[in-house]
Amino acid sequence: MPKPSLYPTDRGCFVCGNPDTVTHHIYPGYGRRDISDEEGCTVRLCNFHHNMSDHGVHADRRLDSFFREDCQRRWEEREGTSGDGHRAFLERFHITYL
Ligand SMILES: [Zn+2]
Ligand SMILES: [Zn+2]
Repeated sequence: MPKPSLYPTDRGCFVCGNPDTVTHHIYPGYGRRDISDEEGCTVRLCNFHHNMSDHGVHADRRLDSFFREDCQRRWEEREGTSGDGHRAFLERFHITYL
């Protein structure tokens, strides 16, 4: 069973609130895309903030970095109940963005 998303799924685009959204997988690459699904590292974005403009997460490195870092913090907080979230993230994703 995939874990619930670390971001709200019922409030439209996380950036602008547009109700018409797609699911963005926060960590790239084939392996990590599946892990993103399993670990809830997904966020709802409208087309504009996904990939339809320079401001979309697939074109805007700052927005992309924001989600990679913010999602890692959220994941470490949720999973690291005994203070080992950072190490657990490294073991799960084999990379760190913090
Ligand atoms: Zn948006
Ligand atoms: Zn995407």
